[in-house]
Amino acid sequence: MKRIFYLLLLISLFLPGNTALAAADSDFAKRADGMAEITELRVSAQRDKARIVLEASREVAIKTMALSSPSRVVVDIKNAWVSPQAKKDMDIDSPFAGHVRVAQFDPNTVRVVVQTTMGKNNYSVFTLTSPHRVVMDFGDVGGSTEQAQIKPKEQTDKKAKPTTVKPPADKKQEKKKPKAHDKKDKQEKDPILQEAGRNGKEDNKEDESELDKQIRDLTSLKGRRIVIDPGHGGSDSGAIGSSGVTEKSVTLRVSRELQRLLEAEGATVIMTRNMDTEVSKKGAKATDIEELQARCDVANQNKADIFLSIHMDSFTNNAAKGTTVYYYSSGDKKSRLLGEKIRENLVEALGTTSRGTQSSNFYVVKHTDMPAVLIEVAFISNKAEEKLMASMKGVKQAAQGIADGIADYFG
Ligand SMILES: [Zn+2]
Repeated sequence: MKRIFYLLLLISLFLPGNTALAAADSDFAKRADGMAEITELRVSAQRDKARIVLEASREVAIKTMALSSPSRVVVDIKNAWVSPQAKKDMDIDSPFAGHVRVAQFDPNTVRVVVQTTMGKNNYSVFTLTSPHRVVMDFGDVGGSTEQAQIKPKEQTDKKAKPTTVKPPADKKQEKKKPKAHDKKDKQEKDPILQEAGRNGKEDNKEDESELDKQIRDLTSLKGRRIVIDPGHGGSDSGAIGSSGVTEKSVTLRVSRELQRLLEAEGATVIMTRNMDTEVSKKGAKATDIEELQARCDVANQNKADIFLSIHMDSFTNNAAKGTTVYYYSSGDKKSRLLGEKIRENLVEALGTTSRGTQSSNFYVVKHTDMPAVLIEVAFISNKAEEKLMASMKGVKQAAQGIADGIADYFG
């Protein structure tokens, strides 16, 4: 790899009119010199664990952090850059880990974030050599672990929880080798270099505020200004389901949960309303247009990067169901992409039918200056979807889906 860059540099120096290109190559060659290239991301779901493997062009040092709400494990790969060809985002079909995202966190660090509810004894992050890899196991990692002994075979649902099967012999070997290697060669240089085979225990000693800080530095959402508009409110209930669930209450709950998730990843969130109220200063006396314009004003005046209006759909025929995202086709060019990403992730998280990403003239997407979408999460007029969205599970799934979509959009 490196040799190719130097060769290119050499050739371009002898070609006329190529000095800019030569300078760029030179900068890159200098920067990449000595750094590991992360060339590939792979995931595999096994019966007793989920495994994530990142291939590297040379030996790497890693640092692992565990974070809660939402639960995830963050691994920083030092002195590395992620190849444009490498996959950045993958779902894992496993009860042990749900999703992995890889990004260039800063010029020298590649950050890997894994959604997982595994505790410290049930994941393991380590490096391997020849070829160089970072391996992340979730589930049965053959760790210490009292858990494994306390919970014998009474578990009937093997998929739901880590099992207690002994690790295969080859895995033990894998884990030992880099440990010895790392300690000898590198530890004196950098105290935060990873000893391989660790179960994440030491890392959990970092106190919560430090972890919060770390998560705030997360990749794509850091520093983004996001305005969330919980649809309806106050004198306007929005649609009402057959069991009496109001649209305005569901939109506020989803919005609050979404706010929490986005802030945990470093975004600045501004809500058009935080309570069961109108947004306009005129309150219940505001006209419909005044009320909607007040919501747009919050986004425009705060110079938001994106605007999201959260709603629940409703129809006279209670068989209608599913998720729709609307954008204004003559508005910001990126609105459609934002809508697509949110709809894809939302449908996946909620298990609803997709009704597409559609163009519309809804006031709030037409009168906002930034990429803007109106999300009809599900149908409150449909019994099953009303029930789902009245539950905390549905609220959380919806918020997580929207948050993932926003992260994809910015990623
Ligand atoms: Zn609505």
